[in-house]
Amino acid sequence: MSKISVLVVGAGPSGLNLSLALARRKVPHRLIADANGPGEHSRAMVVQARTLEFYGQFGFAREVVNQGVAAEKAHVREGGESGGGREILTISFKEMGTGLTPYPFALAYPQDDHERFLIEKLKEAGVEVEWGAKLSGFQQDENGITAFVEHNTGRREEIEAAYICGCDGARSCVRETLKLDFPGGTYQQLFYVADVKITRGFDRDLYINLGEHILSLMFPVRSSGMQRLIGLVPPELSDRETLGFEDIRSRVEPLLDVKVSEVNWFSTYRAHHRVADKFRVGRAFIVGDAGHIHSPAGGQGMNTGIGDAINLGWKLAQVLQGRGDRSLLDSYEPERIGFARSLVSTTDRAFTGMVAEGVIGEFIRRIVAPQIFAIATRFNIGRHAIFRTVSQMRIHYPDSPLSQGAAGGVHGGDRLPWTGADNEDNFAPLQSLDWQAHVYGEARQDLETACRELKLPLHRFPWSLGAQEAGIKRDALYLVRPDGHVALASAEQSVNELTSYVSRFRLHFEGCSK
Ligand SMILES: Cc1cc2nc3c(=O)[nH]c(=O)nc-3n(C[C@H](O)[C@H](O)[C@H](O)COP(=O)(O)OP(=O)(O)OC[C@H]3O[C@@H](n4cnc5c(N)ncnc54)[C@H](O)[C@@H]3O)c2cc1C
Repeated sequence: MSKISVLVVGAGPSGLNLSLALARRKVPHRLIADANGPGEHSRAMVVQARTLEFYGQFGFAREVVNQGVAAEKAHVREGGESGGGREILTISFKEMGTGLTPYPFALAYPQDDHERFLIEKLKEAGVEVEWGAKLSGFQQDENGITAFVEHNTGRREEIEAAYICGCDGARSCVRETLKLDFPGGTYQQLFYVADVKITRGFDRDLYINLGEHILSLMFPVRSSGMQRLIGLVPPELSDRETLGFEDIRSRVEPLLDVKVSEVNWFSTYRAHHRVADKFRVGRAFIVGDAGHIHSPAGGQGMNTGIGDAINLGWKLAQVLQGRGDRSLLDSYEPERIGFARSLVSTTDRAFTGMVAEGVIGEFIRRIVAPQIFAIATRFNIGRHAIFRTVSQMRIHYPDSPLSQGAAGGVHGGDRLPWTGADNEDNFAPLQSLDWQAHVYGEARQDLETACRELKLPLHRFPWSLGAQEAGIKRDALYLVRPDGHVALASAEQSVNELTSYVSRFRLHFEGCSK
């Protein structure tokens, strides 16, 4: 039996990111997956800006962007199942996101390419995925967990660890062992996914096509030069035993306004919407699809799992390395479960409305959705609000035990706003993956002294219009967490607030790199 700090179960996007977050912080752990290798088929197609910001912290966001297609526009089309579809909206991600993030676009990057990329990054960090290793159950007490693992060679192993993290997908063994409820439902509609070549050549934009009963999304895939189609199978075909692209071609082509010249891959699946009733029991955590699953139409599922992994990774590292109080781990569930619940209910409502039948559905697609969008995007504030929501930049933790204070428009728990459009990049120091203090303007002498004594890196940025527009308060103190969220905002640069926060969570910054 081997004793390690963390056993990560599952090597999808959530497990790979959790493992990277641990490896980069030098936490000894193992990463097992029952599959024999990385996924062969892409599921998630969109990497949101917030995920790219996390990858910026890992130092490889630009590499990821270069492997995908940074789509600056999405075209929303309506009708046309039997011809005559029309564009009802053009969404410019660039217009909506410029100035808010270094990544003002939606990145089309298939999940299979994405997973292979992360596996390479993990290898560079010294971690190999242990494929063909299936968790069959585990037990825990106050000192740790014992996990029962069956290797595909027939070998059985017991792994002892301080913590177990179930990143093991929708059918999570970790969730089932913990006997957690996973309430929700299954959409009655059948989805399809296909890789196709279209006659008009490679198209870099995103297309969202809404029709009665059938919805179809089209994304560019750089690595294959093809388009990925994800959509709903027409209801009259959804009970067929076997289904191929030819069965739906006559409905899909007019809806998308394309001619398909080659079909590389076609598959169908059913989607669910569920959230587990807890994300943690004792020393066991669940992460990603193990804890929440939603309609793929919102493009949020994988990104939310990656956000969970980033959130949990730094907290585990701090506690295991004796650099923070164990109560840091108590904040994982409240920070992530609330967002998962609201996401599942919003994507469910939006999805149900968009594919609704009859006059109501048509009214929503043709009138309500375009009108709401047109009104919401008339002004910068509305454009930014939509981009922040879809890109997951708006995720914040106002009620977290770790969130304290407000300065300007920035509250404890908010994502640190990006001020780097025309100025020094305030996200660059986040690559340390560690705690840091930021001041935009002048840092007071007593704060400088306190940070030096605490060994907390203090970053000073010149006061700028960008900082003001981002809601930052001049000369305020922002204590920034290792995941780029604000822990403490102090308008008065209060050293007392800083030191009492540090002692409350027993934070040690020794060894924090700049
Ligand atoms: C068609 C489709 C399109 C989608 N589009 C999007 C999108 O555009 N954007 C988006 O954000 N999301 C999208 N999603 C959702 C996204 O694919 C999932 O949210 C994502 O895969 C979840 O990642 P995960 O790592 O949590 O779980 P998974 O990817 O399911 O990984 C689970 C891992 O656990 C391992 N495992 C399972 N059981 C065990 C066990 N007992 N022992 C050991 N290992 C185990 C598996 O081998 C695997 O490695 C889409 C989903 C589908 C189906």
